[in-house]
Amino acid sequence: MKLKKTRKERKCYECKTLINKGDLYGQRSIALGEKVDGQTETYDGMNVVVHYMRIPVDMCKCCLENK
Ligand SMILES: [Zn+2]
Repeated sequence: MKLKKTRKERKCYECKTLINKGDLYGQRSIALGEKVDGQTETYDGMNVVVHYMRIPVDMCKCCLENK
């Protein structure tokens, strides 16, 4: 995992710690929702295809190293 120095304040997604300006942080992509991509689901009587989304989140050095 590559750590970067942040130029703005961020919050760790995992432990909610504030990552201060100049501190090291990393980014990891997490899955939004628990659905499998392409799975269909009935929503309001309609069949919809669920898309599995991945979004990048900020994490502090500790959380990245503990995993
Ligand atoms: Zn953290």
